[in-house]
Order: sequence, then structure tokens, then C-alpha cells
Amino acid sequence: MNMIPYGRQSISPADIDAVSECLWSGWLTTGPAVQEFEEAFARRVGAKHAVAVCNATAALHLAMLAAEIGPGDRVITSPNTFLSSANCAAFVGATPDFADIDPVSYTLCPKSLEASWQDDVKAVVAVDYAGQTADMPAIADVVRRRGAVVIEDACHATGGRFEHNGKTYSVGGHPWADMTVFSFHPVKTMTTGEGGMLVTDNDVYANRARSLRSHGMTRDPQSFSGLGDDGPEERGPWYYEMHDLGFNYRITDLQCAIGLSQLTRLDEFTEKRRRLVKQYNDGLADVPAIETPRLRNSNDADLTSWHLYTVQIDFESLGVSRTELMRSLADAGIGSQVLYIPVHLQPWYRRQYGYTTGKCPAAEALYTRSLSLPLFPELAESEQDHIIDTTLQLCTPPRTAAHR
Ligand SMILES: *Cc1c(COP(=O)(O)O)cnc(C)c1O
Repeated sequence: MNMIPYGRQSISPADIDAVSECLWSGWLTTGPAVQEFEEAFARRVGAKHAVAVCNATAALHLAMLAAEIGPGDRVITSPNTFLSSANCAAFVGATPDFADIDPVSYTLCPKSLEASWQDDVKAVVAVDYAGQTADMPAIADVVRRRGAVVIEDACHATGGRFEHNGKTYSVGGHPWADMTVFSFHPVKTMTTGEGGMLVTDNDVYANRARSLRSHGMTRDPQSFSGLGDDGPEERGPWYYEMHDLGFNYRITDLQCAIGLSQLTRLDEFTEKRRRLVKQYNDGLADVPAIETPRLRNSNDADLTSWHLYTVQIDFESLGVSRTELMRSLADAGIGSQVLYIPVHLQPWYRRQYGYTTGKCPAAEALYTRSLSLPLFPELAESEQDHIIDTTLQLCTPPRTAAHR
């Protein structure tokens, strides 16, 4: 039996044509497709600048550098996320720290953020868990009143929108994040194989990120400092200057060609994901042991770009462990995943910063109960029916002594 994975890309003949066209064009690394993809993405989300990079981890690192976060600074994020949202702070010598999640949306809780604040906090990385956006207006209010920078980790939310005070905003194109980061890893809502994007309306952040993406070097005569030689007559066509310590975080034309093609199907992907989520919610609604995902704002039901379908399961009442349940699902050909282990409880974080259990009780409680079921655009109705039926069967408690 084929295993249904928890997430999977959707590749079309047009994606494949785009790659072969790119190969024939002769451009493999940074060529015209990179800029075209950046412009199309910026237009799509409604941002002034988009900087495409090799993955979202690199984009988060560049966001830290662009905001000049460094040693002595603290960066708060949500523990319910992938490692990169916190690691990026450590990359630049800052201290990654954590505030707890809101138990409804599983995203960074503005009240907990406020309570965790310390004078050295210089940036906050808010994560749009499963595709539901963090409460960005409330978070930006807490962060900006204290002069810090708001970075939105929207790796789960490419293509998403949300409502605030009767108006609709696009992830990456609203006023409550200074920089927003997207991932195009294959399980995410659109893919370039590996890939990431940093978007911002801030010219300085965009220029820094663009420069640091490629070794901090420039070939633009306008920006030459003159510190590297004896004058303009020395600067032939070979000439370039390195102004900052950067990296090779470039993305290839091949990847951007896939990205341009995938972008044309992003609405189709998100609509399908929303339909699947609604069907899951309906199918699993009446099971006491299962808590289906909830939206902080019910108006976002038609706007959210779901990346994950994460339920909470009361394993105790069922008398089975999560491992046993995952094994039973796997026996029925159904992949499932646990997203995420709270980052502050990772061995490196415990060792490096002394973080322990109890630091973020809501995130830790979610972790003991969470399970993500398969969600991707090509999940067939029959496959989803099979997943719902199997889950219902496994999550209905055995008849107990109470019945005798
Ligand atoms: C996937 C993911 C990342 C990292 O993205 P890469 O492109 O794999 O580097 C960061 N944050 C979150 C929340 C993610 O889901």
C-alpha cells in the first residue's frame, strides 16, 4: 500500500516546461528568472521589495542582519515552530528567547509576549502556525511601542490573507511586519524545491539583504567606497568591492522558474487546502477526544492558506499513546507528523540558555496532544475519506465499564 504523506508538493507539466526552458536558456544560477520571480511575488503579496534566497532559514538570518540584531540583543519567538525561527537569532550572536502561545491559534500570544519583555529585546519573530496568521496588529503594538522590529515567519502562510477591523490584508503586504519570510520547501504551500523569500517595504532592509545574499559585494560604481584601491582609474571592468561580510544565499534561476510557475497556481492550492480543512473539520467534529483547529477570527475561514492540519488528541482518554496511534495510522497507509517539539526544550537550547520545561506551558501542553494529518492539494477525496474514517475508528474510546 502507498503511504499518504503528511504533506507533498504538486508539480504540473507547466512547472516541468519552465525548468527545461530555463535549462535551454543557459541561465542556471542568478539570471532573469530570479528578478522576475521577486517582482511577481512582491506584486502578489503587495510588498515593495522581495529578495529571493536559497531557503527560508537564510532569509531569517538575513532579516536579523538587516535589522542589525547582534550580540547583547534578545529575540523573542514562539516555541511552536521549526528550529530556524529561533536559530536565526543565535546565528548573529543574539539570545533567542520564547513567549508562550495562544491556546486557540497556537501562535505567539501578545499578552505573554508583553509579560516576557526585557529591555534587551530588539526583535520579535511571530510565526503563522499552520497557515493561521499570528495576531500581527496586537503583536506589532507590543513590539513597536518598545522600539523593536517585527519579523513575521510566514513559512506556513504563503498565499494567505486575514481580516482586521473589516478589512482584508495579505500576508507579506500588511503594515504590522517590518519584514516577512516565506519558505518554498516542498511540503509548504508552494515550492521551488528549496527556496525562501524575504519581503519588506523598507529600502534599507531590502538593500542589506540583497547585498548579504551574495557575499556583501557590489559591482555598482555608484556605491564604490574607494577604500580598496588608488582611484577610479584602477577600477576596470573586473572591479568589485566587498562592503560587508555576506554569504552565498543565492537561489537559482531553475528554482525561480518553478516558483514563477507555481505562483500561478497558488490560489488553486490554497482553495483546495481550505476545502480539505473544512471537510476534515466536519468529519472529525463529533469526536470528544479530538479538538479540530480553531481560528482566532472566524472571518479568516475563507482567507487562511492552510499549511498543516493539526488536531489535538486526548490520548489519555483513549488509552493509547501517540506513538501507538501513529503506528496504527501508518498501518492503514496514513502518514502523520508531530509539529512541533517546543524549540526551547531542544537539548541545545537547554544547554546553551538553561531553558526548562514549564517556561511555555501552553506550547508544552499542545506538544503532548498535537498530531498533524495529511494536507496537500493533491490529496484525493477518497484518501481523505479513508483518513477521516480511520481516525474516527482509532479515536473512539473503547466501551468502558460504565456500560456494564
Ligand atoms: C519550513 C520552515 C522554516 C524553514 O524553511 P526552510 O526553507 O526549510 O529553511 C522556518 N520556519 C518555519 C515556521 C517553517 O515551517
